[in-house]
Amino acid sequence: MTFEKGGVWRNWVGNQYCVSQYKASPETEAELVDLVREADQRDLGIRVSGSGHSFTPVVGTNGLLLSLANLHGVHSIDHEHKRVTVAGGTKINEVGRTLKQHGLSLINQGDIDSQAVAGAFTTGTHGTGLRLGNLASSICGMRIIKADGNILDIDDSDRDLLHAAQVSLGTLGIISSLTLNVMDAYNLHERLWRDDFETCMERHDELAANHRHFGFFWCPTPESRHLYCLPDTAAVSSTEKLADVCEMKIMDITDAAPMEADFEKIAYSSEVYPIEYVPNFVELEYAVPLEYGKTAVRAVRELMLTRHTNCIYPIEYRFTAGDPGWMSPFHHQDSITLSVSGGPGIDYWPFLRDVDEILRRYGSRPHWGKMHFLDTDDVTQLYPRANDFRNLRRQIDPKNRFLNDHLRLLLG
Ligand SMILES: Cc1cc2nc3c(=O)[nH]c(=O)nc-3n(C[C@H](O)[C@H](O)[C@H](O)COP(=O)(O)OP(=O)(O)OC[C@H]3O[C@@H](n4cnc5c(N)ncnc54)[C@H](O)[C@@H]3O)c2cc1C
Repeated sequence: MTFEKGGVWRNWVGNQYCVSQYKASPETEAELVDLVREADQRDLGIRVSGSGHSFTPVVGTNGLLLSLANLHGVHSIDHEHKRVTVAGGTKINEVGRTLKQHGLSLINQGDIDSQAVAGAFTTGTHGTGLRLGNLASSICGMRIIKADGNILDIDDSDRDLLHAAQVSLGTLGIISSLTLNVMDAYNLHERLWRDDFETCMERHDELAANHRHFGFFWCPTPESRHLYCLPDTAAVSSTEKLADVCEMKIMDITDAAPMEADFEKIAYSSEVYPIEYVPNFVELEYAVPLEYGKTAVRAVRELMLTRHTNCIYPIEYRFTAGDPGWMSPFHHQDSITLSVSGGPGIDYWPFLRDVDEILRRYGSRPHWGKMHFLDTDDVTQLYPRANDFRNLRRQIDPKNRFLNDHLRLLLG
């Protein structure tokens, strides 16, 4: 397989782009190995685009930009140990569809399922659930193509290496496949309703403790929920208010039969998790230590009600359990995640900077795929294993083939 002439690449929302010299979409792992080796010999940087759903410059390169969209599918299913091995370019929704046929489910999912598994899992993508880790915490094996074309197989016999690789943003090499822990198939019962903000805060601990999944969107104005395509739950509102309200969501595993009613649904897990978004926002999201969650959301809400009243995208608030991943935003830290968005047509940078300033006070760690303002020292300070990760990365990729400027600053 040879390189094709590259060109302009843009991410999903269009706030990031790069102009690569070459591009390629290998159809087999052998082709992928040849391409990587060739790029190394030509002294080119190498990056992969998953489905381009990150808001940060984690994909771009002016060297060789790979797509693994042709390397997809579930390679094998180990029913005894409840593990599946999937090609790196497989979309999450393809994994869900295949697992359903085999009586299995992913342990948790986020708000969308169109990302490539390698792209989503290794940026620390998460769903919501006080006792559920991020998606990367379910990775128990990885197959990585290094710059010299040699293959690095990682499994749980070397836990340090596994925990380093789980959230590594493609900086160790190209992920050809991943092995994931899964569980027996389950149906989820989803319920949506609207509450006012203070009631949501009062019920916060109880709802998080008593449901497998709990999260909410705080909407400063009636228009806010439309910006995220949220359903209008006024029909099941516990408040007369239309503004400054929380769109609440709980989901629990159930044995009940599938059903669909207004704001209530029972279906196979992967058919319940995803919601709809349109590319009309740029998002910032930080993992805030659990104990500061309510204080942090109060502070950001106050900021939006007083200083940035033109910033009306919802705050999304979710829960994720700590995990051992060295560069996981939830590294040994049960957290809530708080996200805000900037919309087209307004200068959202002062708003995002003010939110960053608030959330930094609590030792929060940003989502690698969403807007943030970290520099080298911030990463070192926030991540106790950051220098271990950097040293390991330099051993595995001594010529820094898999870095771009953004990743060099953070993880170089
Ligand atoms: C509408 C929307 C909804 C979202 N919902 C959530 C959510 O609910 N929860 C959450 O936590 N995040 C969410 N995100 C963020 C998103 O999940 C992450 O940014 C994720 O990384 C995107 O996956 P992707 O496949 O598009 O990867 P990309 O953005 O294309 O790539 C991410 C990183 O992975 C690398 N990469 C991709 N494939 C490979 C490979 N095979 N080998 C090596 N490196 C590779 C890329 O080079 C890059 O560094 C959302 C984003 C959007 C736009």
